Amino acid sequence: MRKHRTSVLNQKFNIMLGGLINRLKRKKVSPKTRKKSSKEDAEYILLYGTQSGNTQTMAKAFFKGLLAEGKKVFMDELDNYSLYENATHLIIFTSTYGVGGPPSNGNYFEDLIKEKEPLNPLKFSVVAFGSTSFPEFCQFGVDVDKWLESVSGFERFIPLVKINEQSISDIRSWLSLWNRTSGMEVQIGLKDIGKKKSKIEDFIVLENPEINEDNTSLIKLRPKNQISFQSGDLLGIIPEGSQKPRMYSIARIGDDIHLSVKKHDKGICSRFLCNLQKEDIVVASLERNESFHFVPDAPSVWLIGNGTGIAPYLGMMEENQHSPLKLIWGGRTESSFHIYKPYADKAIKHGRMEKYELALSREGNSKYVQDILAEEENEVARALESGAVFMLCGSMAMQDSVLKVLNKITNDKLDRAISSFMNNGQILKDCY
Ligand SMILES: Cc1cc2nc3c(=O)[nH]c(=O)nc-3n(C[C@H](O)[C@H](O)[C@H](O)COP(=O)(O)OP(=O)(O)OC[C@H]3O[C@@H](n4cnc5c(N)ncnc54)[C@H](O)[C@@H]3O)c2cc1C
Repeated sequence: MRKHRTSVLNQKFNIMLGGLINRLKRKKVSPKTRKKSSKEDAEYILLYGTQSGNTQTMAKAFFKGLLAEGKKVFMDELDNYSLYENATHLIIFTSTYGVGGPPSNGNYFEDLIKEKEPLNPLKFSVVAFGSTSFPEFCQFGVDVDKWLESVSGFERFIPLVKINEQSISDIRSWLSLWNRTSGMEVQIGLKDIGKKKSKIEDFIVLENPEINEDNTSLIKLRPKNQISFQSGDLLGIIPEGSQKPRMYSIARIGDDIHLSVKKHDKGICSRFLCNLQKEDIVVASLERNESFHFVPDAPSVWLIGNGTGIAPYLGMMEENQHSPLKLIWGGRTESSFHIYKPYADKAIKHGRMEKYELALSREGNSKYVQDILAEEENEVARALESGAVFMLCGSMAMQDSVLKVLNKITNDKLDRAISSFMNNGQILKDCY
């Protein structure tokens, strides 16, 4: 009976996923429309400030993504800022040049926005490109964001996001924020930004327990074919009824993938995943996420995360051989941690992790992970000074708060900005 039910379900999923595979095989998703707009017609104005052309490439990839969503978009250089009759949004992609200055096509932008008040209120979003190897990391983008905030006629759409060294994970995080806020499904073509596409594979569902009180499930999958991957990599899934891939951070345990998925009420992919049955097949691609792999030879590693952001750490606790390892995890209640506790206890029992600390927001004295870091400021400073690696995975809001606290600690205790630790690979991020 069980077998029959599973095979019917499998058939159902195979039909559903067959459509998905066919769509993927067609390679190019059919854009809703690709017609470019004039600056008079466009609703979305995308301006870029670039010195070497890299930021323009990124802007072009986003421009194509907006066109594929059927939006009326006009793209231009920063210094060509003008008045736009039908615009509702202003999106700025800009780099910084020299000591926190503008790139060559962004010299007059500050004067222009102060002179030309928009005809209609414009919702603005700034994406700042830079490198943490410079002390004035993304400074021009920060200034542009500040000017727009202070001039009348502009209204913030999403917070400023900084992209380090064209990092694909930073770009992905920004895009996820953009899509969530706008309700769009914009994709940035990996090919358009010079990255390789991953291969589509089949994965068998081994376990998918009921969601817990936080609507979260721990799903175990086994790749049908032998493929190489490690904890911190990402599983990309394009659910039926959508063209945008959803990413999930993975843990590798043995040859299997463990995912922590939060089911969103109206979420297409998270509902699909949380409803999977044992032995169903999931079609997905595995993407290497080099910048979020465990660093085995670090003097110590701090795993910092909230909610489903714990997923890659479940595998890293297994993988760790030598480094003193500690987990700081934020969730609502102690029972939110129950699904992860067996992994943490096992790692401690086998000497692969020293301890874990929970920051609970809805129990006892409400606490967040950054509060624990602030309480342990001396230990944090000592660890960073000795070369420890701090990994951050979970919500973007958590990432911002943690980086603020770390920056205060490093400035106060070590007379150094956190950006210098980001630059030498001691702060690794994978937030969404
Ligand atoms: C690099 C990366 C790693 C990720 N890793 C994980 C992971 O390990 N586990 C996990 O559960 N998710 C993870 N996500 C988020 C995941 O990719 C999906 O965005 C999420 O599952 C929602 O997809 P959906 O199709 O269910 O929702 P959609 O159909 O895209 O959206 C439906 C509704 O949910 C809301 N929503 C969507 N995403 C979020 C969000 N993140 N927070 C709050 N509201 C949201 C939307 O506003 C909308 O109202 C990751 C995202 C990125 C970019």
